Amino acid sequence: MLDCEVKNGWIQFLEFIENRCTSAEFENWIAPIRLIEGNHEQIILEVPNVFVQEYLLDNFKEVLCNFLPLLGSGEPAIRFQIATAKSTPVAAPIAEEIEVIAPTFELKLNRQYVFDNFIEGPSNQFVKSAAVGVANRPGKSYNPLFIHGGVGLGKTHLLHSIGHYVGEHHKKLRIQAITTEAFINDIVDHLRNKSIDKMKRFYRNLDVLLVDDIQFLQNRLNFEEEFCNTFEALLNQNKQIVITSDKPPAQLKLSERMVARLEWGLVAHMGVPDLETRVAIIKHKSERRGLDIPNQIAFFIAEHIYNNVRQIEGAINRLCAHSRLMSTNLNEDVVEKILSEMFQSNAPNKKISVEEILKSVAAVFEVRISEIKGESRHKEIALARQVAMYLAKEMIDDSLMKIASSFGGKTHSTLLHAWKKITDQIQMNEMLRRQVQMVRRNIETV
Ligand code: ADP
Ligand code: MG
Repeated sequence: MLDCEVKNGWIQFLEFIENRCTSAEFENWIAPIRLIEGNHEQIILEVPNVFVQEYLLDNFKEVLCNFLPLLGSGEPAIRFQIATAKSTPVAAPIAEEIEVIAPTFELKLNRQYVFDNFIEGPSNQFVKSAAVGVANRPGKSYNPLFIHGGVGLGKTHLLHSIGHYVGEHHKKLRIQAITTEAFINDIVDHLRNKSIDKMKRFYRNLDVLLVDDIQFLQNRLNFEEEFCNTFEALLNQNKQIVITSDKPPAQLKLSERMVARLEWGLVAHMGVPDLETRVAIIKHKSERRGLDIPNQIAFFIAEHIYNNVRQIEGAINRLCAHSRLMSTNLNEDVVEKILSEMFQSNAPNKKISVEEILKSVAAVFEVRISEIKGESRHKEIALARQVAMYLAKEMIDDSLMKIASSFGGKTHSTLLHAWKKITDQIQMNEMLRRQVQMVRRNIETV
């Protein structure tokens, strides 16, 4: 069934986009998408192939959020289906006849991921300036540049920014940006079509190769060699390589030869943005969406979502959707209500592990996981340990004995003692209560 409001939302989205991209882009990528079904909970879009789906989400996810229903996480609630030869469109507002031609080697970069949209702070300044250095002088500064850090912290954003910058400022250079998965798929396809030499020639003739998420190469022994050979061929010709990963090279389960190549140039860490940087990101993103978020509210959001910028964007999407539908101003109560719905809707059915709790407590209390699990009676460490035990008892549905043993073999009476102590303390100590709430929300929203 196609709800009228959803249909109008979709048409408005198309009109909005049409004015913001070239007609070729619109005809190739957007026009072939068909709205099949939709209500206030979810819409179904039919796309000719997965490239179109990726293009839509990579480039227009934020815009989609303004026109279509959202999931609890703040992401647009879209189910995609790939068109089959037989499928007939229920609603095809425009350009029904246009066929999509997905260019194989078109440089697919997210147009929002440019240096100007990247907010700097102490946690990412170093890696950003390394990226700018590489973009200015490809192959002549750090090579390879290896960027590693947690999920949603802007690694892909910086990688694509390099691609955009090189594309604009060094027009003659041949660039390719690719995810590790796509590279592997490319190898598989070319092996199947017996055209692997052609592929090798293509990659080895590049001037700049941007590879996202190299961690997906782990346990793919057959492909590692091809990666390694390509990297070596490019590096030997001083061609620029930039790689992102969720871990530093030495922690990746890859061959010594590969790790050595990855460590050859500059290894730069992308950290979690501090409070002020998160506030700046919230202000920047919301202004771009035409939403005025007062400082106090920006701080409120930044205090509650702190280790993943993508989640911050999800929160802003929800606030935008809310302010579009309701005429009420955003105050702390409204925001808390909207965000707590977001946290809750992420929570059901999620099985939480002691490791997740330890990780989050360690980050908030600034101690190491090994210290929490250890025996130290140092005040800060002991407090962090008790908070972790308190949360484990609160959040994990398992026997106390089993939970306690995950804390470096503590007994269940130690766990109960810690739980009781923290239960009492958070009644009296506002700061501790906030910290515990922060850890809990963080675990629930990961
Ligand atoms: P990663 O690749 O590290 O998982 P992404 O690059 O996909 O993360 O970033 C997730 C989202 O957060 C993107 O929409 C990106 O634009 C945004 N983002 C992350 N860091 C920043 C930043 N410092 N400034 C602005 N936006 C950021
Ligand atoms: Mg990424």
